[in-house]
Amino acid sequence: MQARHPIHRNALVLFSGGQDSTTCLAHALSHYERVETLAFDYRQRHVVELEARLHVLAQVRAQFAPWGDKLGEDHLLDLGVLGQVSETSLTRDMAFKMEESGLPNTFVPGRNLLFLTLAAALAYRRGLDVIVTGVCETDFSGYPDCRDDTMKAMQIALSLGMDRRLLIETPLMWIDKAQTWQLAHDLGQKAHAHGGDQLVDLIVEHTHTCYLGDRTHRHAWGYGCGTCPACDLRAKGWARWKA
Ligand code: ZN
Repeated sequence: MQARHPIHRNALVLFSGGQDSTTCLAHALSHYERVETLAFDYRQRHVVELEARLHVLAQVRAQFAPWGDKLGEDHLLDLGVLGQVSETSLTRDMAFKMEESGLPNTFVPGRNLLFLTLAAALAYRRGLDVIVTGVCETDFSGYPDCRDDTMKAMQIALSLGMDRRLLIETPLMWIDKAQTWQLAHDLGQKAHAHGGDQLVDLIVEHTHTCYLGDRTHRHAWGYGCGTCPACDLRAKGWARWKA
């Protein structure tokens, strides 16, 4: 009889509707039996992100039938309180700039710690034992709450605090944006023939990354203003992957 890990069968994906979290969703759908998704509404400057994620979920269900069967409930938690404790260009009408700390002013202190704590509480209630998140140390802005050590510390704290073994999985932690496109391609390809190109096309067309919420300018890598830090990162990763 095939040995099977008694736990780690069901996953909750922190799913914002961007390139990274959609790749994480594909990862979860190819590794786990049941997958649910979670996003936070913290009065992002643009509701575009929250709309994009619903389109992505619908497209995944439509284009990847076996994945669609595993894809369960989608959750949206109100986190408007974040706007009360932070001055950030993500939630206020402020220009993007680098702070003296070396962090961009999109940084919300401790945001991911809050996200993970709430995700763990939801996972507990829903009987999910893995939290998948697209945090990455490789080529983003050095947010301290995205670091590998932070994730491991949170995994231990949450597992102890809830007295249930919880795994925080970070498939993108050590890869760059070009490799993220490749990972999506590989995962799609494993789902079905031509699934690789299909998943990449889905990510290009339906995910949203641009900080300015621009859905009017279409580039080879998707929609966006083309100049904000998020667009810049996505465009450069695409160019390197294509090369
Ligand atoms: Zn942009």
